[in-house]
Amino acid sequence: MSAKRIDGKAFAADVRAQVATHVARLKEESGLTPGLAVVLVGEDPASQVYVKNKGIQTREVGMNSFEHKLDAATSEADLLALIARLNADPTVHGILVQLPLPGHLDSDLVINAIDPAKDVDGFHISNVGLLGTGQKAMVPCTPLGCLMMLRDHLGSLSGLDAVVVGRSNIVGKPMAQLLLAESCTVTIAHSRTKNLAEVCKRADILVAAVGRPEMIPGDWVKPGATVIDVGINRIERDGKMKLVGDVDFASAVEVAGAITPVPGGVGPMTIACLLANTLTACCRAHGLAEPEGLTA
Ligand code: NDP
Repeated sequence: MSAKRIDGKAFAADVRAQVATHVARLKEESGLTPGLAVVLVGEDPASQVYVKNKGIQTREVGMNSFEHKLDAATSEADLLALIARLNADPTVHGILVQLPLPGHLDSDLVINAIDPAKDVDGFHISNVGLLGTGQKAMVPCTPLGCLMMLRDHLGSLSGLDAVVVGRSNIVGKPMAQLLLAESCTVTIAHSRTKNLAEVCKRADILVAAVGRPEMIPGDWVKPGATVIDVGINRIERDGKMKLVGDVDFASAVEVAGAITPVPGGVGPMTIACLLANTLTACCRAHGLAEPEGLTA
């Protein structure tokens, strides 16, 4: 039987609608407007598109969007000075520095200069530590989106076997921490994992975050498993450019219980969760109740 397709586009639209409702209520009841500052250094075309989309969606949910576009040759000192100003600005509740940064800038240093309470990407070492110790953190957007979809589809995740393929700081590791916090039995696989097919086949929840087109075929998937495909790979097929995931959708959809397609699965959830994190940061900054269902 063919798996249920988890519609990330519709899910993300629902998250944005929930955020917009909360923002409208915040404005009415507390006179507050959440604000997101996005810092872009240089002219990387993909980053420019992401930043533009973030700005549009931020304004659409009623938040303030502050865009800071800096020259590719900007010095570390100037970038750190901008971050210090944004940290001190009470109208800014979330700060995102678009990665990758030009090579002369130290990304770790820059990210760790952001006030952890405004670190809506969840990459600051304080937030990594808070997440790892089960404390209230800002959670990285893509894994948060995956968790929301898993909870929606499965309800309780307790006791399920989860396999995360990929151990990056932005997806694999935080995803594994979130699943552990949901009481899954978690395995993290990577490029040195032996018998990856067997490891994947044990998974009730299989999250693929690798960046290798269609590397996980359907016969690595446990029948009925929930498959979350984070991968975004651009390939040429039949003379056309196409986006595919890390999972071979055509074969996996015949085995899985549910699966996210690429495009239209995890991808749209990332910006939706960025907006949710900005709202959460605003509520926390003002000691207000956090929006239910929009945090980890
Ligand atoms: P990274 O390149 O940082 O990490 C990839 C991980 O995959 C590494 O841990 C690597 O292992 C592992 N890996 C590589 N080859 C294999 C293999 N043959 N078998 C098993 N594991 C392997 O990637 P990211 O985590 O940043 O991104 C992963 C994918 O997710 C990409 O396609 C990216 O475009 C996509 N993505 C999508 C987002 C969205 O939907 N909004 C957001 C972020 C990412 P090792 O550590 O051993 O090298």
